[in-house]
Amino acid sequence: MTTVQTTAPALVHGRSGRIGATDFDVERVRRDFPILREKVHGKPLVYLDSAATSQKPQAVIDAMSRFLLKENANVHRGVHYLAERATDAYEGARSKVQRFLNAEHAEEIIFVRGTTEAINLVAQTYGKTHLGDGDEVLITEMEHHSNIVPWQMLCEQTGARLRVAPINDTGELLLEEFEKLIGPRTRLVAVTHVSNVLGTVNPIRRIVEMAHARGARVLVDGAQAAPHLDIDVQALGCDFYAFSGHKMYGPTGIGVLYGRSELLDAMPPYQGGGDMILSVSFEKTIYNKSPAKFEAGTPNMAGAVGLGAAVDFLGSLNREALVAHEQDVLDYGIRALAEVPGLRLIGTARGKASVISFVLDDVHPHDIGTILDREGIAIRTGHHCAQPLMSRLGVVATARASLACHSTRRDIDALVSGLGKVREIFR
Ligand code: PMP
Repeated sequence: MTTVQTTAPALVHGRSGRIGATDFDVERVRRDFPILREKVHGKPLVYLDSAATSQKPQAVIDAMSRFLLKENANVHRGVHYLAERATDAYEGARSKVQRFLNAEHAEEIIFVRGTTEAINLVAQTYGKTHLGDGDEVLITEMEHHSNIVPWQMLCEQTGARLRVAPINDTGELLLEEFEKLIGPRTRLVAVTHVSNVLGTVNPIRRIVEMAHARGARVLVDGAQAAPHLDIDVQALGCDFYAFSGHKMYGPTGIGVLYGRSELLDAMPPYQGGGDMILSVSFEKTIYNKSPAKFEAGTPNMAGAVGLGAAVDFLGSLNREALVAHEQDVLDYGIRALAEVPGLRLIGTARGKASVISFVLDDVHPHDIGTILDREGIAIRTGHHCAQPLMSRLGVVATARASLACHSTRRDIDALVSGLGKVREIFR
């Protein structure tokens, strides 16, 4: 059996070291997800695609439908009863997210469509006003397209240069190389907290220290971290943090950009329209303060309420036991898959969260995904919006199983047995 060290000890045992995976009642949590009772092709659903989008607990579905049934009206500026209820619900969700991230101020929480929009917002506001010809943005080889393309667009617009920090063959960021690449012209470092392909957990605090020591700002792509890790933006020290509601048990179309208030105050607006202004005349428009300044137009109110409910849902779980449980299923999965003949794991970093990528002999990952689907097993196959990473790894695509709070060792057993069928077909 291949021995792969997968987890940083702190992640396995939880912070106290006392609470473990067995303290997590996964069967109870599974009952919170109605979709897990569905059958796919006559088989029980085995959902191993939470990194693409998570399933929704009943509490989130209920909170959204309650809002639409009983509270819906346009937010802000309304004087009637429902407008006030809707505004309270929307702003209440902002406060929940503030606590979730441990942000200092609610005004630092900007509702956006998702991680992609959050990163584009920073590129087109902070980036456009702080970067010029010859300045640099530093990213890593393991970024998702949404943490590459907005910076390339910014570089095209400003004459700035994109620099890319390398990873090693296990999928860990080479910190020494990374540090060397932070130069006098580096204005911004944009790095993923958890890789959606490799599962690697990056040492964000260390990265922030390195960047700040050289006067660069740091944006963290938290799309894959928010559902799995405790996030404390003040402890991390980052300047911007982005995540999507739909990957952390909330709805699609809502996400968050956290930004430190002094940066947000100095940034120009992203889009123009209603709500982002204090006053408008044909001669001059005065912009509102954050967060309104960055939330032009009618926002996704039901989405924000759903995200607030997702934050409550995560808060209702014993976080330490949840982390231990997810690590247990991850470690079990990695050990089990490593024993499948012909299977090669992609991404074996020491600190990993919730993602197992692999290739199997010369079977195309899409064929793996299609055969597994017939068994009721949902995984993702392809380049996972990380084509430069695929090139670095020397593969065109991978198969990826990704976990959530409701994942079990049974799900992994089903995956391993499904892979047995794939091998029989391609023998
Ligand atoms: N970054 C990472 C690491 C991701 O996994 C994803 C989604 N696959 C994104 C960014 C983009 O998120 P969204 O599509 O929700 O904007």
